[in-house]
Amino acid sequence: QFPFGRRLPCDIYWHGVSFHDNDIFSGQVNKFPGMTEMVRKITLSRAVRTMQDLFPLEYNFYPRSWILPEEFPLFVDEVRMMKDSDPSWKPTFIVKPDGGCQGDGIYLIKDPSDIRLTGSIQSRPAVVQEYICKPLLVDKLKFDIRLYVLLKSLEPLEIYIAKDGLSRFCTEPYQEPTLKNLHQVFMHLTNYSLNIHSGNFIHSDNVNTGSKRTFSSILCRLSSRGADVKKLWSDIISLVIKTIIALTPELKVYYQSDIPAGKPGPTCFQILGFDILLMKNLKPMLLEVNANPSMRIEHEQELSPGVFENVPSPVDEEVKVAVIRDTLRLVDPQKKKR
Ligand code: ADP
Repeated sequence: QFPFGRRLPCDIYWHGVSFHDNDIFSGQVNKFPGMTEMVRKITLSRAVRTMQDLFPLEYNFYPRSWILPEEFPLFVDEVRMMKDSDPSWKPTFIVKPDGGCQGDGIYLIKDPSDIRLTGSIQSRPAVVQEYICKPLLVDKLKFDIRLYVLLKSLEPLEIYIAKDGLSRFCTEPYQEPTLKNLHQVFMHLTNYSLNIHSGNFIHSDNVNTGSKRTFSSILCRLSSRGADVKKLWSDIISLVIKTIIALTPELKVYYQSDIPAGKPGPTCFQILGFDILLMKNLKPMLLEVNANPSMRIEHEQELSPGVFENVPSPVDEEVKVAVIRDTLRLVDPQKKKR
């Protein structure tokens, strides 16, 4: 740890949150300049939408989204038009504050008029998105997938996707959204940080059961039910690649501004956390990208009321140790020199 920097150059610099040090002249840094900004909810939505306008069929893995408050009138108009053309369409929307994480400030609505357009939305912009009402369920529960992706280089574009990830489960059986259950976060939101507070959360000591499991255990289950797991993987890979392609033009601008070509500087790589939801028909949908995914391999356990201890989490260990190990192998400075 070098809280005040270091004079001698390093092979690899591992920054905690984002790229922040302009005094690095060689080696590799584990963050790209501008990545944190690019994956914020609003910026990501904008970048994907630009591509949706150009290639609507290729970019149909991201729910229809509007940016608040500026696109509120557009949101109202488009929803009205869609309802007029299909009166049987009974949508639900999810409102997510920009820059929020861990489910913070998220709520579901049935109609644009339900948006809390008070002073707070002006000061806290958000994305409102079509809610995916028919997710794939396992054990009657909604879950999402966290996949780890290594962006090893922007030019040439080099992307590696970890073969295993995490599946994070809700803790209340899923029902399609109704006015009655819209507020039930344990049914609709898969965030670990929320569901951990449910009495139903199961910390499991293996990777196939409980509220957090490996993605590979889900794939095994799906494959035994006869699902086309190969096609699912190829859809996921193409979702990841297309998302990164949508981000690259602006990432290159950030890169050139912080590390101009011709000047001595480091190269960058970054582990990204992709949050993906599978629809009932197995189509993967992108929820969000995390620039600083948690690499914790422990969780807190309450030993007695109010007394907590960190204990190992086998499922996090199984997935995350492999991600870090393979990342270090891929960026190995010795290999680079050879
Ligand atoms: P945060 O950064 O706060 O975790 P997310 O965009 O990941 O925000 O959303 C939180 C959770 O809400 C997701 O993990 C998922 O369970 C649910 N969710 C988000 N967007 C949608 C959507 N469009 N349709 C259905 N569920 C969604």
